[in-house]
Amino acid sequence: MTFTTRFAPSPTGYLHLGHAFSAVLAHDHARAAGGRFLLRIEDIDHTRCRPEYVAAIPEDLAALGLDWDGGIWRQSQRRPVYQAVLDELRDRQLVYPCFCTRRQVAAHSPGQGVDGLIYGGTCRRLDDAAVATRLATGQQPAWRLRLDKALDLAGPITWHDGRAGRQVWSGEGLGDVVIARRDIGISYHLAVVVDDAAQGVTDVIRGMDLFHQTSLHVLLQHLLDLPTPHYLHHQLLADDEGRKLSKSDGVRSLRDIFADGIGGQEVAARLREVIAGAT
Ligand code: GLU
Repeated sequence: MTFTTRFAPSPTGYLHLGHAFSAVLAHDHARAAGGRFLLRIEDIDHTRCRPEYVAAIPEDLAALGLDWDGGIWRQSQRRPVYQAVLDELRDRQLVYPCFCTRRQVAAHSPGQGVDGLIYGGTCRRLDDAAVATRLATGQQPAWRLRLDKALDLAGPITWHDGRAGRQVWSGEGLGDVVIARRDIGISYHLAVVVDDAAQGVTDVIRGMDLFHQTSLHVLLQHLLDLPTPHYLHHQLLADDEGRKLSKSDGVRSLRDIFADGIGGQEVAARLREVIAGAT
């Protein structure tokens, strides 16, 4: 199979150095392997994605000197596909509707997990009549995975990370995670798993911030009979004080850096030095 990897940003802000690091790493792996480097824009969250951020992604990558294979994949255009997968999980009773507010989830949570607060299971106990009443009054649910049933079906989850080695997971730190959010009708987890398979991705190269979510992704692959790619979770770039770079900290975007007169090629060259030093 042709080595295929991808860069899959969410356009909720302009790309920053952390994104560029991921993109250069994935791009160079693909080129070294004579494989494919795909660009997928993960724009399912219409509450946070903005057209100007979408438009900037290919421009910024081109400025870095990166080229990708084929057209640009947009998750916002694939809703019916995700919906069909969700319907299948619903038919198999692997998901259930959850009407809890954030406050209710927090009040009954047994604690923090790897994907936010672990759900206490309140809506798992709703019977069909209670669900029907809520739906009939127009309440929009989120859909949560029945983790215990899913694990029973899928068996122990094992996967391989290029840096951390073999991983074995039997459900710790997660709970009944949201597979379709109330506000957008889908979740990152479901869309990423469906699309990595649909695009023939053999190697997922992404930041360590998604390391723990990967076990859930592999579980979903088992449930949906999709192949599990190889994973490589790279270290996150830190700022001068050693803090992780992220959009929420107001970290400077690539555009700001380019505007200061540092060219994209130079940024990419410096990132390659960091990559060479880290491997
Ligand atoms: N869209 C995700 C993000 O920007 C990355 C998804 C992935 O690489 O799996 O954080």
